[in-house]
Amino acid sequence: MNVFEAVKQSVTTRQAAEFYGFRVDRTGKIICPFHNDRNPSMKVDNRFHCFGCGADGDVIDLVSKLYGISSLEGAKKLALDFGISYDSKSVVRKLKTIKQQKSDAQKYAEAESRVFRVLSDYYHLLKRWKVQYAPSIENENWHPRFAEALQKISHIEYLLDVLVFGDAEEKALIVMEYGKEIAVLEQRISEFNISDTGSSHADSCGDAGVQECGGSQGKPDFEREWQRKKHNQELSDRIAV
Ligand SMILES: [Zn+2]
Repeated sequence: MNVFEAVKQSVTTRQAAEFYGFRVDRTGKIICPFHNDRNPSMKVDNRFHCFGCGADGDVIDLVSKLYGISSLEGAKKLALDFGISYDSKSVVRKLKTIKQQKSDAQKYAEAESRVFRVLSDYYHLLKRWKVQYAPSIENENWHPRFAEALQKISHIEYLLDVLVFGDAEEKALIVMEYGKEIAVLEQRISEFNISDTGSSHADSCGDAGVQECGGSQGKPDFEREWQRKKHNQELSDRIAV
């Protein structure tokens, strides 16, 4: 129980008025401290109400108004003066819950951006393979990487689209569904050591290359970059038609 609940449950406004020096008459009224009162016009019971000036509230309101302090200070003063124990831990517990919820949301956001980053790297790798391993003569057997590129590229592009343009639920589904595969894919991509993904993050690393700046890890502009790319692609598609 917090200090507000504890105080309100233990002290009536009448008890507080008497404790702080007011005389309660036979009708349960005191001289109102909030207006120039001559005859007692403030009723004190569980709550207080003044029939002269309309002042109204509970015991904490009365004390905080009387002493010009905040509600919390008023409640603490009452608790101290009346020897009421209260559970200050409940506030701490609430804060802990909020903190926990926040870190859960943070964890999810990290998972989502990781899925996006890995899929994006994979997408660029597939695009490169599609060109690099394209069969040179008509009857040549397809290189497995070329086949993989053809097979996967549009699906990966679809997933990335959802991660950028989809609603929260659609994104969460992908994060959950591909969570495990992502770890495998990430490992695999790192083995290929992409030297040029053709994206701006490679440029920003300069000659240092991807390895130096830790790949695309933690690049916050990835989503914007993807949106820009999609936009450019749509433009060139339109021109091609
Ligand atoms: Zn009054």
